[in-house]
Amino acid sequence: MLQFGSLKEGNHDFDYKLDDDFFSLIPQDLIEKGEVNVLLKLEKAERRLTLNVTIDGWVQKKCDVCLSDLQYPVKSTQILHVKITDKEIEEDSDLIGIGSNEYELDLVQHLFDYVYLSLPMKLKCSDSLNRNECDDKVLEMLAGPDEDGDNSNHPEWQKLKEIFKN
Ligand SMILES: [Zn+2]
Repeated sequence: MLQFGSLKEGNHDFDYKLDDDFFSLIPQDLIEKGEVNVLLKLEKAERRLTLNVTIDGWVQKKCDVCLSDLQYPVKSTQILHVKITDKEIEEDSDLIGIGSNEYELDLVQHLFDYVYLSLPMKLKCSDSLNRNECDDKVLEMLAGPDEDGDNSNHPEWQKLKEIFKN
């Protein structure tokens, strides 16, 4: 919760840290763990707030290819405009309106969106902090039995070998 009601007009900086508790607070199952630093630069004017939000850190997610649990870097800067008005305004992903009698702003969902949207659409191990390539063993398993590979240990093949021996 950003308490802006008592702030003077002008610039104010805030630091936040998003941790596992933050991610468990939001009803979602997209991100469970992470550690993300947030730098919020707020400019307060009479009828509006301008929020310049920089996120920098990592979240834990599964690789979409081999399903390894890895840490992925998140980094972005977003600007959110807040209009202080008692009229209905058309809200946008970067523009929201709040009533003139309000004095605090709930940024939880916005911060979550900034983090989530800074991740690539499809996560690969090569995007992660922990690893350069996907796990070969898992990839082989996911690909299923290799048709051209060595089948000498296959039970059917063992049976055939028994037959030929006799
Ligand atoms: Zn992978």
